[in-house]
Amino acid sequence: MRFLPVFLDLQAGPVLVVGAGEEVRAKLRLLISAGARIRWFATDGNHDVQGLDGADTARIALAVGDPLAADLDGVIAVLCAGAGDIGVAMAARARAASLPVNVMDDFDRSTFIFPAIVDRGDVVVAVGTGGTSPVVARRVRERIEAMLPARIGDLAGFIGRFRKSINGRIAAMPLRRRFWERVIDGPIGALVLAGRGAEAEQMLSDIGDPTAFAGARGAGEGRVTLVGAGPGDPDLLTVKALRALQDADVVFYDELVSPEILDRARRDASRVPVGRRVGKPGIGQAAINRLLIEAARSGKRAVRLKGGDGFVFGRGGEEVEALREAGIACSVVPGITAAIGAAAQFEVPLTFRNEALRITFLTAHKAKDADIVDWSALTDEKMTVVVYMGMTAASSVRAGLLAAGRSPQTPVGVFARATLPDAQAEVGTLDQLPDLVARIGRGPAVLVIGDVVAHSAPWFRKNFNHVLSNLLEAAE
Ligand code: SAH
Repeated sequence: MRFLPVFLDLQAGPVLVVGAGEEVRAKLRLLISAGARIRWFATDGNHDVQGLDGADTARIALAVGDPLAADLDGVIAVLCAGAGDIGVAMAARARAASLPVNVMDDFDRSTFIFPAIVDRGDVVVAVGTGGTSPVVARRVRERIEAMLPARIGDLAGFIGRFRKSINGRIAAMPLRRRFWERVIDGPIGALVLAGRGAEAEQMLSDIGDPTAFAGARGAGEGRVTLVGAGPGDPDLLTVKALRALQDADVVFYDELVSPEILDRARRDASRVPVGRRVGKPGIGQAAINRLLIEAARSGKRAVRLKGGDGFVFGRGGEEVEALREAGIACSVVPGITAAIGAAAQFEVPLTFRNEALRITFLTAHKAKDADIVDWSALTDEKMTVVVYMGMTAASSVRAGLLAAGRSPQTPVGVFARATLPDAQAEVGTLDQLPDLVARIGRGPAVLVIGDVVAHSAPWFRKNFNHVLSNLLEAAE
């Protein structure tokens, strides 16, 4: 690390800006929005501030004359942008005066550089790459932007307003920290983040004994968040899912949840597998419900992490009902269900104008499940049918649909391990469905049945190869 991130107090004095053109205007915009006072030498004589889009240009004092002879008394930093040789000379002068200086795009003459900035009021995040790659810095910034709640600055401001008075009422340092952690993580923090500052303030002032409040988390504060983990790719977690994982004391996860996703949980959260293991049955739904209730009753923030979406063949509904009955606070974070993940990866438009107007998601775990499906309701050519857990029952799915009258030529796709690094697709016709499944090594896989499969990327590739080999054969 060559450049240490520090925050400059812009109230301490003016920033001297030397330069011209769009470069300098970009920096003026940034400095004004940060609240700086500015003394600007326009090296081309053009002091036009029109382009600064409503920024508070009253903060800019226009300077004339030679910047190299300017009075540097009280100046807190010097900035040269688009200033050519004058910028170089100015940098030397600033350094001689021990003032921090930045010469735009001139790393060697700068003693400070500008980071990429996340600006949420009182919360400011600076991202630097030591000047090596602004593009990477911007990417990192985008990720941080996405992770931070929109009103995180309000939360910092809220705490700032009350910190002194509350800290005065809590003697021990560690307890002060715990107090604020619990404010941030609890309903008061949630109210501020929801823009309900007045209610948050009321709740804070209702705390009679801050030291007690900072003590061990009470039994009443545990809760369960049912989180959809998506189909496998950790980047498909929602921002909310990520937040819940980072907040969890304990994570109960299913067999479909990949280790990469589990890695996103808070480092010291305990991780409890509750799904089926290879060849072994799971602990059962009733036992899972019990574990969730116990965790919440002991004051823990529990996350119930499920593959895809918890409410699509995930038994999330049963868990929510059990929690509701037990009086446990619970919330649900949706996830990308396998059908949607597979559709995106393999470019299967699940609906298509005039061709596919309906979608049915169904499950056919065993042949006997397939036997109880009413296939006659699924013969509409304009309906896309997605079968979850359908690999072993593929022959029954085929038989059911054919018997009900769906054409054996209907395009179908078997999409396995979608969004994971070893994803696999086999496409063909309904008639070939069991063979396609046989060609898939391992699940999990969804079966997609309907004309839309003919619009998918694997279908396109297969036909392209077919046409190509016919052409090659003809040429021989
Ligand atoms: N709640 C999950 C579904 C759980 S049922 C969801 O919303 O996705 C388990 C079935 O989901 C598997 O048998 C398979 O049909 C499907 N599935 C889960 N992950 C998958 C993946 N990455 N690729 C293809 N199918 C998947």
